Amino acid sequence: MASSRDSETDVAVVGGGPAGLTAAIALAAAGVATCVIAPRARPDNRTTALLMGSVTALATLRVWERCAADAAALRTMRIVDATARLLRAPEVAFSSAEIGCDAFGYNIENRHLAVALAARAAELAALARIDDTVQEIEVTEDRATLRLAGGGHVRARLVIGADGRNSRCREAAGISLTSRRYPQTALTFNLGHARPHHDASTEFHTESGPFTLVPLPAAPGRAHRSSLVCVLDPADAARLQAFDDAALGDEIERRAHSILGKVTVEPGRGVFPLEIATARTFARDRIALIGEAAHVIPPIGAQGLNLGIRDGATISEVVVAAHRAGDDVGAADVTAGYDRLRRADVTSRTIAVDLLNRSLLTDFLPVQGLRGLGLYLVDQVGPLRRAVMREGIAPTAATPRLMRGETL
Ligand SMILES: Cc1cc2nc3c(=O)[nH]c(=O)nc-3n(C[C@H](O)[C@H](O)[C@H](O)COP(=O)(O)OP(=O)(O)OC[C@H]3O[C@@H](n4cnc5c(N)ncnc54)[C@H](O)[C@@H]3O)c2cc1C
Repeated sequence: MASSRDSETDVAVVGGGPAGLTAAIALAAAGVATCVIAPRARPDNRTTALLMGSVTALATLRVWERCAADAAALRTMRIVDATARLLRAPEVAFSSAEIGCDAFGYNIENRHLAVALAARAAELAALARIDDTVQEIEVTEDRATLRLAGGGHVRARLVIGADGRNSRCREAAGISLTSRRYPQTALTFNLGHARPHHDASTEFHTESGPFTLVPLPAAPGRAHRSSLVCVLDPADAARLQAFDDAALGDEIERRAHSILGKVTVEPGRGVFPLEIATARTFARDRIALIGEAAHVIPPIGAQGLNLGIRDGATISEVVVAAHRAGDDVGAADVTAGYDRLRRADVTSRTIAVDLLNRSLLTDFLPVQGLRGLGLYLVDQVGPLRRAVMREGIAPTAATPRLMRGETL
């Protein structure tokens, strides 16, 4: 039975995280009637390193201008083998100037990005927002019907599942995952430090995983700041998590080899068990998955949300094209096209991150040797080095129009 809360739209985006809002803004800015359904977000102290392609997409969508001042440029990326193993990799440092770029990307606290996305979304007449949770999705031949927890339904030609790693949309589409848990936990928080970061991120490779410091902008009373993602054995993570701020600051300074001087821990620690998961298909029966609903990868090499933004840019591009042609935006050829366009990018990044992570955990000497050799070659061979840097910020397998600075 229809209720006063029933509505009809071209596209329903389930989930109001950064991937979902990026897709919704791109669609609505191009005139596609779009509805975002999500409960209002809780504050998040995490930060995200956005690579240049993502920054270009957000700038094209007029989101970046609202949060650029809250982001810190990443101009140097350093990888340091801090393991005590027999075969160690050489230290490698990449500079964005080597490939003619001002920066590889920018690091931003998620809360600033969320505010910027919400403000841009609120400006768009074609974008409706429902603060609710989707409980059930029923798909028929010509549309999907979403039942909301607060009562009422939304009917749409296409559902974009941007509802995170425990995606109800994925479940409704009957799409399974290949997934694995790692014996690792990421401890995250932001910190002040005595010495400047000089726009450089440093990833120390340790036996338990990467320990990554990424620049943040200054804040009142703190001239020098960075974010930290510290991947640890779960018992070590629990031990550090129990430290008070002063003891944790001393421990982090020690593990960072004092490169940033004395460390002061900011409030708001996060603990994330590491896992990797990929949906077997990214779309089926009028439901297309983006962001962590489609793939979860460990926080190594800043890939997760950058992939999610590429998903959002790609699904919006194929849907806008179908809409302009007067076609059904949820038709099987549209969703199959999206799946095809995303497969190589997601698969290659997932494999690379998985291999790198497992090469750190293993005690198997040949694998450690290969990791060291790989980094040595990247460091020494100029064309390979520049190709790796370019591929890192703008993947050849996936450059949707928004990432080239073109509006839809
Ligand atoms: C420690 C750590 C560090 C990271 N660092 C980086 C980095 O530097 N660079 C990078 O690119 N990535 C990074 N990532 C990955 C990045 O954080 C994620 O890829 C990103 O947050 C996922 O965004 P999303 O929009 O897909 O999902 P989420 O942010 O999880 O959003 C899901 C949304 O769906 C909503 N939702 C869920 N169920 C329903 C429902 N039934 N109905 C309605 N709404 C629903 C939720 O309320 C939420 O709004 C990091 C991850 C971790 C854990």
